[in-house]
Amino acid sequence: MHPPLAPALRGGGVTSHDWERSAVCRTTDPELWFPPPGDNGIRAIRICRRCPVRRACLDAALAEEGTAGADRRHGIRGGLTPTARAQTQPRQAARDRASTPTN
Ligand code: SF4
Repeated sequence: MHPPLAPALRGGGVTSHDWERSAVCRTTDPELWFPPPGDNGIRAIRICRRCPVRRACLDAALAEEGTAGADRRHGIRGGLTPTARAQTQPRQAARDRASTPTN
């Protein structure tokens, strides 16, 4: 049986991205990215902080998860927990709107 892949590398309908080849989580224990209740995921978060593709990973997670609440998001992605990503989404959307030129 294969261990679960870290969130950034799960595939399953998610488009494959070039940046995934540089993901630090490719060479670590995937279980770290799915901490059990009571574990804040800090070990995975610390690894994400030194990942060279963290921004791309987080952008992909936010794009894929859309407006889902924290209960519909899974695992540590881009260095953020599901709750932190749910809180980040509205700020990211506002930044995207502000940077989109209007005609
Ligand atoms: S930021 Fe974290 S979850 Fe994303 S690719 Fe890097 S190590 Fe994996």
